[in-house]
Amino acid sequence: MSYKILHEPFLSIFLGNQTNLEAIYLAMLSLPFMDTKSLIKESEKYIMHTYSRNPVVLIKGRGTRVFSPEGKEYIDFVGGVAVNILGHCHRRVVIALQKQSQRLIHVSNLYHIEPQIMLAKILVEHSFADKVFFCNSGAEANEAAIKLARKYTKDMIGADKYEIITSYGSFHGRTMATITATGQEKFQKGFAPLLPGFKYVPFGDINALKNAVSPKTCAVLLEPIQGEGGVNIPPPDYLKHVREICDKNNLLLILDEVQTGIGRTGKLFAYEHFGITPDIMTIAKGLGAGVPIGAMLATEKVANSFVPGSHASTFGGNPLVCSAAIATVETILEDGILLDYCSRIGEYFLSKLKELKNEFNSEIADVRGLGLLLGMQMNIDCSYIVRECLERGFLINYTANNVIRFAPPVIVEEKEIDLLLNNLKEIIEQYDE
Ligand SMILES: *Cc1c(COP(=O)(O)O)cnc(C)c1O
Repeated sequence: MSYKILHEPFLSIFLGNQTNLEAIYLAMLSLPFMDTKSLIKESEKYIMHTYSRNPVVLIKGRGTRVFSPEGKEYIDFVGGVAVNILGHCHRRVVIALQKQSQRLIHVSNLYHIEPQIMLAKILVEHSFADKVFFCNSGAEANEAAIKLARKYTKDMIGADKYEIITSYGSFHGRTMATITATGQEKFQKGFAPLLPGFKYVPFGDINALKNAVSPKTCAVLLEPIQGEGGVNIPPPDYLKHVREICDKNNLLLILDEVQTGIGRTGKLFAYEHFGITPDIMTIAKGLGAGVPIGAMLATEKVANSFVPGSHASTFGGNPLVCSAAIATVETILEDGILLDYCSRIGEYFLSKLKELKNEFNSEIADVRGLGLLLGMQMNIDCSYIVRECLERGFLINYTANNVIRFAPPVIVEEKEIDLLLNNLKEIIEQYDE
C-alpha cells in the first residue's frame, strides 16, 4: 500500500499558502484510493475475520449515499446498523467535529469537560433521567447498567439479590457480561463460563416474566423493540405490565435503547411510545451519528449508588465525541421536524412493504417495525436478496437468519424508498423463476 498517494495532496496544500479546511476537504475527496480488489485482499490478510463482510469497500458518503473507490454509488438502508441517523457527513456534525478538534480533542475525566456537561444536560432535559454516565459503545453502556443495577440493589436491599432477567432473542453486546445478558446461544458459544446471575424469558410473554421473578431478582433488562433479534415489537401494554411487575417486586427496569434511541422510532426514545419510564436506560448507536459514544442514564435515586471509584472509562464522554453528539441530538430535536418526518416516512415505508407482502405472500412471512426501524421476515434466502440489492446499488442487511432490516438515515426520501421497493419486487420475482 502506498502511503505516498495518501499524503501528497495534503502536503501540496500545506506547502502552499492555502491551508483552509475546505481546500483540504476537497483534496481528500478526490484522492486516488486503492481499488476494491486490492483493498479486500489486504483486509483478508491483516484484519481478524470476525465479520462476514460484503465484497464492498466504502470510501466516502453524503446524505443517504455512499461510494466505492471506483465511484459506484449505493443508497444506504443499513445506516451503519442504525448509527448514521443523520446520514453520512451531516454538515452540522462535520462542523462540530472540525471546531472541537481544533479546540480540544481529549482530556481525562479527572477534569470537568464542557461538551460532556452540555450533552448530559440535553439528554436529561429530554428524558426520564436525572444523571448520565458516558462510555464508548452499546455494550459498555449495558455493562455500566448491569453494574449499577447490582450495586444499587446491594446498597438498598441486600447482597443476595443480584439476578437479572432478560429475554430470548435479545441483543445487548459482545463483552462477557453482555453476551451473558444476550438471550441467544449463538453469541455465547465457546466463551463459557458465562457470568452468573442471568435468567431468560420469552420476549412479550408477561406470565413468563411474572414466573421468573425470584427473591434473588434485582432487575429486568429489555429492548423496547428487539433489534438484532429481528425487529420484534412486543404486544400492546407488555412494557406497561413489565413496569408494574418491577414496581410490585422492587426491581429495576433497564431499557436497552442502544438501537431504538435518538429518534430511530419517531420519538427521541422508544419508551415514549409505551407510556412508561425505565429506571436505567442505555443508548449508543445513533447518539453520535457515527462517532463512537455510549451513555447510561438513570434516575437520581438509582444513580446515587455510583460514587467516585464505582465505574470509569478513559475515553468516555470525551470532548470530541460529545460535540458530535450535541450536534446530532440538537438536530434531531429541532422543532420536532425530523422526529415527525421519521414517523411519517417510516409509515410510508411500512405501507410499501405491506403492499409488497400482499404481492408476494409466500415469499414474505411478515413486515413490521416502528419509525425507521423496519423488518421484513422472509421465507426465501435473505443472502440472495442482499447480494442482488448490492448489485443494484442498495445497502441492506438481514438479521436473525431471515429478517431483512431497514434502518436508513432519517433523511431518507420517498423516492429512494420507491426505488428500493421497485428493485425488491424485481429481485423477488426473479427468485420465483
Ligand atoms: C448494537 C447493540 C448493542 C451493542 O452495541 P455495541 O456498540 O456494538 O457494543 C447493544 N444493545 C443493542 C440493543 C444493540 O442494538
